[in-house]
Amino acid sequence: MIDLRSDTVTRPGPEMLQAMVQAKTGDDVFREDPAINELEAQCAALFGMEAALFCSSGTQTNQIAIKCHTQPGDEVICDADAHVYQYEAGGIAFNSGASVRLLAGDRGRINAAQVENAINPNDLHKPPSRLVCIENTSNRGGGSCYDFEELKKIRSVCDNNKLAFHLDGARLFNALVAKNETPAQYGALFNSISVCFSKSLGCPVGSVLLGTEAFIAKARRVRKILGGGMRQAGYLAAAAVYALDHNIERLATDHLHAKQIAAVLYNCPFVQTVLPVETNIIIFETKNTTAKELVAQLKNASILCHAVAPDRVRFVLHLDVTEAMVAAVIQKIQSLQF
Ligand SMILES: *Cc1c(COP(=O)(O)O)cnc(C)c1O
Repeated sequence: MIDLRSDTVTRPGPEMLQAMVQAKTGDDVFREDPAINELEAQCAALFGMEAALFCSSGTQTNQIAIKCHTQPGDEVICDADAHVYQYEAGGIAFNSGASVRLLAGDRGRINAAQVENAINPNDLHKPPSRLVCIENTSNRGGGSCYDFEELKKIRSVCDNNKLAFHLDGARLFNALVAKNETPAQYGALFNSISVCFSKSLGCPVGSVLLGTEAFIAKARRVRKILGGGMRQAGYLAAAAVYALDHNIERLATDHLHAKQIAAVLYNCPFVQTVLPVETNIIIFETKNTTAKELVAQLKNASILCHAVAPDRVRFVLHLDVTEAMVAAVIQKIQSLQF
């Protein structure tokens, strides 16, 4: 089976499992888990931010961040394709009681002018604009990366209007590798950052939220309220420490594999268009067939992928997709007929 449905399908290899087994653990609610303390310190140092909090998922880190930045009735500004809006089960309303202003960005990326135009005036009819959330890379944008200069402009708009700025960096490491950027650049720009270890970095579980000491103290309390206080979760944190040390640079291989497959898709008779491939995600539009039919045909050939819209298919490259598997996928798509 070649599983291109998501980069969440990876399983820890022997070395990561070995690191997990050897973890020194304790009760993290008492702050006594050495492996979690190590991961949180390592992440904070890497991003040049004051503190970090290990959580069970990227949904949890994002939702905690939104809760900490807003009061009920405040408004959150984000792209209409944002994970925080599309895929977190209505959590912004459920957890924070906040309103959302959706912007029509370019492949999941909003710009400073759009943000500026979306800020509500100080008018009692309007919800107070409080927070801007951006996603890098953008999942529904096909793994698109932000231009860092645009992010700086959004930061100025936030500063001028007293808005907080949160980064959903579920796949931030893909963006850093693709654009040759550093975690510290991002740490200096955002009030809070969420990064996932269970995506491209190959861990079974885990995300980290970053911010100031005061922000993370509040976040730790919200995590407890959400039932997210963990005990000997250092076994999971050890996987994340292993991934930071071993699985970042190799993301370039996933990006190369995505470009190799996309190059073939461009010339397939059943492909209308392929979104620009910047990282490990390929999204293409079908022609003469439906996404569902294409997914079914590939499944018959033991290749799994997702229909993300009636005419859109997504392939995601990751740690467990080898060069031989990429060759097999290319061979199969070249042989498909509709
Ligand atoms: C996967 C993902 C998340 C977090 O998802 P979880 O399944 O809760 O870990 C957040 N944002 C983006 C953009 C994602 O792709």
